[in-house]
Parts: sequence; structure tokens; C-alpha cells
Amino acid sequence: MGAGIAGLAAARVLVAEGLDVTVLEARSRVGGRLLSLPARGGGLDLGATWFWPNEPRIATLIAELGIATHGQFLAGAAMYQDLNGVQRLDDNPIDVPSGRISAGMQQLADAVASELPAGSIRLAHSVTLIGLAADHIAAETPHGRFWGKQLIVAIPPALASSTIDFVPGLDTETAAVARRTPVWMGAMTKVVAQFSSPFWRDRGLAGSAVSHVGPMREIHDMSGGDGQPAALFGFVPPPVVGQRTVTAKEVVEQLVALFGPDATHPDQLTIHDWSDESYTSPPGVEQLDAYELFGHPCYTRPALDGRLHWASTETSLEYPGHVEGALAAAYRAAGAVVRATRT
Ligand SMILES: Cc1cc2nc3c(=O)[nH]c(=O)nc-3n(C[C@H](O)[C@H](O)[C@H](O)COP(=O)(O)OP(=O)(O)OC[C@H]3O[C@@H](n4cnc5c(N)ncnc54)[C@H](O)[C@@H]3O)c2cc1C
Repeated sequence: MGAGIAGLAAARVLVAEGLDVTVLEARSRVGGRLLSLPARGGGLDLGATWFWPNEPRIATLIAELGIATHGQFLAGAAMYQDLNGVQRLDDNPIDVPSGRISAGMQQLADAVASELPAGSIRLAHSVTLIGLAADHIAAETPHGRFWGKQLIVAIPPALASSTIDFVPGLDTETAAVARRTPVWMGAMTKVVAQFSSPFWRDRGLAGSAVSHVGPMREIHDMSGGDGQPAALFGFVPPPVVGQRTVTAKEVVEQLVALFGPDATHPDQLTIHDWSDESYTSPPGVEQLDAYELFGHPCYTRPALDGRLHWASTETSLEYPGHVEGALAAAYRAAGAVVRATRT
């Protein structure tokens, strides 16, 4: 269950192994935390943006799917902002070499989904209960009950803990760990500002900034490989509980302070608060901070009589939080399912 990249990648492996797979997805789209806005000449990412050179699984998947990529724009100077004002740095110590999917990271999920057999993904099927029976495991959704020999839970464990009833319950340790495991970026707000051109580059700026003032604490260039679509994006960390994260006016004021008056009128400004996404983040997500629980050994132990396997990025010991971690978790869980079905 879960048609984020972990659930989809696991399904792809299982289908290749000749198994029958159904992917139950709560949202009316695939991708989960991979979410891209279509834009002229490419896509703009409201969720994951980058992959890095040391990540083999995502590189392989991109190559197998024939997806177009480009490098993160690095050239030019970065900006620095603190209570004393704004400063132009000599170079760009903020960005590191990384890759981007030109149509937007969601293309990775869409491409994997399109390879799966027709009808195997059930959108708008949120799982509310997972129950063990004598010789199968069942998932309850508003559209009925689905059952199989094995089930992969490819959603953040804290979300599963808060929204799904497990019958019988999970073992005490797994239940306690799942409840406390943070959701990577689950409390973050991402801001994307699209412009008609990457005007900052004309001034020798990389489009990157670090700010101790906010509201955006970190800003990067999100333009396409040839500069189109032209965009900047920023991260706004979790607000004080109960307060709005950020307004469009505050965002534009900060962009103008950092990059000049050309930033005054973005063509499009999108503010996406992931803590508002009920299929990503449980209530109180900003209070989950036990990052040492990522990849906890309990996530490698099949639960509910060996029929339930964990696979979101948070359950991976390698690259937890990243798409690469989601793939590592997916391949681990899919391997366990294949072994279980052949014994
Ligand atoms: C703002 C932001 C920036 C990021 N930047 C990067 C980056 O630059 N590089 C990088 O590598 N990673 C980045 N990440 C992290 C990356 O997006 C995740 O690691 C990855 O997408 C997680 O995939 P997943 O399949 O494990 O989980 P998810 O993408 O969360 O997928 C879970 C799926 O399960 C579904 N679901 C939830 N509840 C239920 C239910 N009850 N029943 C059925 N389905 C359900 C959800 O709708 C979703 O589709 C970022 C994330 C965010 C939010």
C-alpha cells in the first residue's frame, strides 16, 4: 500500500518476479512526496528536487526508464542574510553538485506507475485497517477489503501508526518506534517562485541563499537545464504550532532583499505546506524529532506473522529521507516478499 516511489518501486520488482500486485493509494495521484507542477519547458518540484552522485539506485532507475535529467545550476555567487542585512558571498558554498529530473521528480513515479499492469494501482483507496487472518493479510479501504499473502506498508510509519488500525496490534517495540519516527520533510513548507527569466544569473548570482532571518532559510535555483522554466525555491521550516508558515508578501519581500527588484512580480508563486497533507504527515508531525529511529531494526522484521513489511524512506538504514532511501527500503521489502512467497 502507498503509491509513493517506495510502493511503486516495490511493485515493479514484484511484477518482474511474476507476482500479482495491487497498489492501494489514498490520494487521487501517484508519487506521494514526489509532486511536480508542470511548467513551460519542464517541471517545478514542490516535494523532492535533487538526487546526488553517490546514489546508485535512483541513477539506475532513471537510466532504465529513460528519463531526462540536468545538473543543478551552481555557477555564480550565493547570498547570505542575517539580522545585519544582506551580503553577497564571493562564490557559492551553498549548492553541491546534484541532479534534477527535467520534467520534475514526479515523473519518476509516473514512469514506474505506467509500467505496472493496467488496473494494478487503485487510487483514492485509503487503507484504514490491516488485519491478519489464518492464511492471508487484509487491507480495509472505503471501497472494500483487499487481501493477499503479503503486504508492504510503504507509508511513513508515524502516519501508519496514527491512521491505521492493526489487528492484531503491532508488537510493543514496533508500535512505539513507529509512533515516534519522524516523517522526513513532513513539517516543511516549500516555496516555488517562477519568473519569466533567471534574472539573477545576469548579475552573476547562483540563485542560492542562506538566511538566519527567514521566512525562507535556504533558497536555490530551480530552473530547467537551459534556464526555462526559470524559478527559485526555498524551504520554510515548521512554524510555531498553530501559526501560518509564511505569506506570499513575506516571500516576495525576502526575494527582493536577496536578489533585487526583478523578484517583485513572480509569474507564479506556490507555497506548499507538507504538514497540511494528511496522507503524508500525522497531526503533530513537527514534534517528531527522533531521527535516530530512521532505519530501526524493527522495520526489517516482518510483522503480523511475517506477512507485513515496511518500505517508506524512513524505514531505510541507507539514505533515509531521500528517494534513494525509499528505493533501498522498497527493494529490501520486495526481496522479503519474494522470499516469503517461495517458501
Ligand atoms: C519538501 C520536500 C523536499 C524533499 N527534497 C528531497 C530531495 O531533494 N531529494 C530526495 O532524495 N528526497 C527529498 N525529499 C524526500 C522524498 O520526497 C522522499 O524520501 C520520498 O518521496 C519518500 O517516498 P515514500 O514512497 O517512502 O513515501 P511517500 O512519498 O510519502 O509515499 C507514501 C504514499 O502512501 C500514500 N498513503 C498514505 N497513507 C495511506 C493510506 N492510509 N492508504 C493508502 N495510501 C496511503 C500517500 O498518499 C503516498 O502516495 C523531499 C521531501 C519533501 C516533502
